[in-house]
Amino acid sequence: MKSKILLTALLSVSLMACAQETPKVKHKKTNTSGKSNAQKVKFANATDPICHMPTEPDMKDTAVYKNKTYGFCSTYCKDEFKKNPEKYAQK
Ligand SMILES: [Zn+2]
Repeated sequence: MKSKILLTALLSVSLMACAQETPKVKHKKTNTSGKSNAQKVKFANATDPICHMPTEPDMKDTAVYKNKTYGFCSTYCKDEFKKNPEKYAQK
């Protein structure tokens, strides 16, 4: 008889522990991973206005002028653009 009592005691303890540890609802889908930050910048300029080479989406030298993002092949071109953005930005 002793062993049966022990067993039921153990069972109830484990059941209670289980009920406590089970998370209530954890079915939320985490869709935050992915596209949110992976958007590639689309430059307003198809070509570098300084040296006239085609811009690439992964160019690191960028300048924002009048809410448009311009891409440049180098910091030199970016600086040249910043010196006189109106001259280069307009078409
Ligand atoms: Zn350039």
